[in-house]
Amino acid sequence: MLNDLYRTLVIEHDKHRRNYGELEGERVHKVHYKNPTCGDVMTLYLKLDEEKVCDVSFVGNGCSISMASASIMTVLIKKQSLDIVLATKEEFVQLIRTGKQRNEHIDLGDALALQGVHQLKARHNCALMAWQALDKLLDQCHSIIK
Ligand code: ZN
Repeated sequence: MLNDLYRTLVIEHDKHRRNYGELEGERVHKVHYKNPTCGDVMTLYLKLDEEKVCDVSFVGNGCSISMASASIMTVLIKKQSLDIVLATKEEFVQLIRTGKQRNEHIDLGDALALQGVHQLKARHNCALMAWQALDKLLDQCHSIIK
């Protein structure tokens, strides 16, 4: 279960979503994503510069876990190189699926507040939605770049 401190952090991110809104511009990619198990929906916007996330934002509707996770993800990946982004993603997926970090050197920041979601199997997709959207978007970007 989410303990009180973590619950507070999740609610805070849901209420005051970071990087919330649309991005516009030539090099902005976007993807719509839906979590069928809970009805959460989001659109993720990403601006890549070489191998770096130059800017990122999202809009969406859904449960507090899904929206907080999306907000936290944007903070974690903004201005980071794709190598770091992918390592962070793997680490977060690991945290949700196993309840533990594999590599303590990777800073998950506020995403650690979602650790307790591990025990709520029905909510895994809520926590992972934004990261799955990111995966899909990066695939799109790469097929365009190639
Ligand atoms: Zn949800």
